[in-house]
Amino acid sequence: MSAILLTGKEVADAMFKQLTPLVKKLDPKLVIVQVGDDPASASYIKQKLKSCEAVGMRHEHMHLDATVTKEELLSVIEKLNGEPDVTGFIVQLPLPKHLQEFVPQIIRAIEPKKDVDGFTAYNIGKTLLSKEFEHLPPATPSGIIAMLEFYKLGKVEGKHVVIVNHSNVVGKPLAVMLLNRNATVTVCHAHTKDLAAQTKQADILISAVGKAKLITADMVKKGAIVIDVGISRSGDKLTGDVDFDAVKEIASAISPVPGGVGPLTVASLIRNTVRAKQRQIE
Ligand code: NAP
Repeated sequence: MSAILLTGKEVADAMFKQLTPLVKKLDPKLVIVQVGDDPASASYIKQKLKSCEAVGMRHEHMHLDATVTKEELLSVIEKLNGEPDVTGFIVQLPLPKHLQEFVPQIIRAIEPKKDVDGFTAYNIGKTLLSKEFEHLPPATPSGIIAMLEFYKLGKVEGKHVVIVNHSNVVGKPLAVMLLNRNATVTVCHAHTKDLAAQTKQADILISAVGKAKLITADMVKKGAIVIDVGISRSGDKLTGDVDFDAVKEIASAISPVPGGVGPLTVASLIRNTVRAKQRQIE
């Protein structure tokens, strides 16, 4: 069997087509705060800025020095919270080492109405309530849901979805969003015993670890839908978690890395900024 290729660009283009007239009408503004010069972050920010341009959204890239203190960063956040012209903003993660222990405090400082990454407890909590309350959901889970919906791979309702990741930004909110759609969800992580026994049960398998070839063909059920979120970097080369060439012969559909979920994380960020503006003017 050769699987259907789930390319993120096609889905992102469809989302941008819907968003462009709304951007024109509502005129939102997105600010991206970068601290330091992490090369992976620089590349993600470039994609985000490019997508703002694609939909005609006003944007600003605030690039702070790697030595910025926690107090200085919190004061930048405070200013953005109070700036009426700024619809939404994100603090690009990861932060430099000296700020990493303060990430929960830094996220907590973001005004939830402007939290277009969907990382604050308020927005995560709303996502937990029901599909109708997913107003500013975290961007990557939201992009994965958009991918499943776009390709009309059948409803997730009643399907067994196995997620390999339990982080606050991917696995946990994704599990909740799938439960909101009546899937049966299993969440795995580094402490899961016999990962293959779990992944082999999946109608839909979603892996987000960042470990190349973690998911091999013998871990996948014939006909499963496989979504690869993980990213490993070796120089300029990006690789997912899934042994793509072998798994595509078993799966019914598979997303590549790069060019799979990545563009949808960005498209969901843009959509959240539009939604934030809609809510702010209501
Ligand atoms: P993270 O916080 O480091 O989460 C990694 C997850 O993988 C954790 O739940 C971890 O469990 C689990 N894990 C580690 N080793 C494992 C193993 N051998 N078997 C099973 N599970 C294992 O990272 P994250 O921010 O969620 O991101 C995860 C990956 O997705 C990264 O590669 C990141 O680059 C990628 N990502 C891609 C996009 C995109 O748009 N394409 C967006 C976000 C993230 P423990 O916590 O127990 O160790």
